[in-house]
Amino acid sequence: MGEAKRRQSAQTVGRPWPPKLPPLPPGTANATPATRELQRLAMLGRMAETNTRTALQAARAATDNGARDQILDSILQGACGLLEGEVRTAYAANAESARLWSTVACRKGCSWCCHIQVETTIVEAIVVSRQVAKSESLTASVLAAAPAVAGTDSVGRLRKRVACPLLVDGACSVYDHRPGACRAHVSLDDKACETALKTAGTADEARKIPTVVVPRKIDTAISFGVRRACAAENLQSCDVELTAALCLLATDSTAVSRWLAGETVFTPYP
Ligand code: SF4
Ligand code: SF4
Repeated sequence: MGEAKRRQSAQTVGRPWPPKLPPLPPGTANATPATRELQRLAMLGRMAETNTRTALQAARAATDNGARDQILDSILQGACGLLEGEVRTAYAANAESARLWSTVACRKGCSWCCHIQVETTIVEAIVVSRQVAKSESLTASVLAAAPAVAGTDSVGRLRKRVACPLLVDGACSVYDHRPGACRAHVSLDDKACETALKTAGTADEARKIPTVVVPRKIDTAISFGVRRACAAENLQSCDVELTAALCLLATDSTAVSRWLAGETVFTPYP
């Protein structure tokens, strides 16, 4: 990276991402709601891509691992702040949306969903892995769970009923750093979540969970932007399965450096 670009990155990195988008540009007022939604999702993806690229450039230029890790952290915090800000905006838009949001069943201690496959970006897995590394018991849980879920698809994972290794006493032990996919998985019926898991996780049962779709759309748009930024920086950009990626990161201290150097390090999401 040139010196001017390095200085620019240093000035902008670490700056929080805007927690929500500005209004859509003039000229979109007459578009259909579906078109406006697509335009907004596209803007979200672009914002995520721009901010992530800046941070990745700074992470590659960082002179020590502590600074590098903080910069990668800022990507997850920015992306998840944007996701949650956009979800709040969407559900405050009118009384009907607010009513729907008030019926969300998710709460601390409800964790049927923490037995499903978690698809994350590589950046998210790296950030979560730093939280795991702080705890010997979490690290041991990750290493124990990884062989049990290796190579399974999402339905196979449900059938095995293996809990996420980060689930401790019914709650997420990395709650503030959990990936966007976990934040965006929102259900209106905890009983349906329980049934989907207890009936061995057939695809049909999983489809019966009345999930709220807007957070997932927003997360998809933002994750897409993060992946595009990785690709633009010539970094491996696929999504990964959380437990498998955490296992790799717990056992290979060179994984992050090699990924930032452009190596293919992670197994893509199955
Ligand atoms: S998604 Fe389902 S299992 Fe998970 S917290 Fe919400 S209601 Fe509970
Ligand atoms: S990371 Fe946390 S929220 Fe996500 S599946 Fe694991 S325990 Fe649940």
